[in-house]
This record gives sequence, C-alpha cells and structure tokens, in this order.
Amino acid sequence: MNIAFIAHDSKKELMVQFCIAYCGILSRHSLCATGTTGKLVSEATGLRIQRYLSGSQGGDQQIAARISCNEIDLLIYFRDPLNAKSNEPNEMNLLRLCDVHNIPLATNIATAEALIHALERGDLDWRELVKS
Ligand code: PGA
Repeated sequence: MNIAFIAHDSKKELMVQFCIAYCGILSRHSLCATGTTGKLVSEATGLRIQRYLSGSQGGDQQIAARISCNEIDLLIYFRDPLNAKSNEPNEMNLLRLCDVHNIPLATNIATAEALIHALERGDLDWRELVKS
C-alpha cells in the first residue's frame, strides 16, 4: 500500500510519535510525505520515506497529483484546525480529491489509529483489487 503523510507544524511531533508507535506496520508499506514531515519522521524512525517538496512549496499538491492518479491508498493528514494557513484552498482540494477517489483519510490521530489497525487487518486490501 502507498501511504502519504502530511503534518502542519503544530502537529509534526504528534505525527512523529504516531509513526514511532506504528513503525513496524508502516515499514511494510511504501511511504511518502511532504518535505519536513518526511524528514522528521524518517530521522525519528529510520523508515524509508519518499519526500516531496515542503507543503508551502507545493509538496501537498504533489501528493494531490498522486491521489488523482490513484497512486495513494491512505492519507494521514494531521491538520492544525485552529490556525488557518495561507494555502487553505490547496488543503480543501486535497480533501476533495480523497473523496473523489475514495481514499481513506485521517485528519486526526483517533482516525489514523483506526485506519492503521484496519490496514494491519487487511481491511483496506480491496484497494489493490480495484486497481488491478
Ligand atoms: P512540510 O509541509 O511537511 O514540508 O512542513 C506540510 C505543511 O505544513 O503543509
């Protein structure tokens, strides 16, 4: 499965802790992330992560393009719900594309944990069947 990670600044530590906790599961999948998120997670966990540009430089749009091509199976997107950022239209587009392409999406840790357990159980394997 291809899993993408994006975390806003106030949520980066949470993302790092999440990835440390589920490192064993994540290591069996293909991972990608926006620049700084990917750097912090790979440094903390040793996981191999394909890194795109920083979100402010268009990294979230690079991930959006992969979602459009049906190349992402799960998006973990820890947004800061309290501080609106300047690229909010891009964020909304990313969420919209997940809905267009039926991509499982977690925007908080409770949902992310539920999806990781679903991934581990094989509940998301249907995505591979749809692609083939
Ligand atoms: P970053 O981008 O991982 O490069 O910080 C994410 C964001 O803040 O949108």
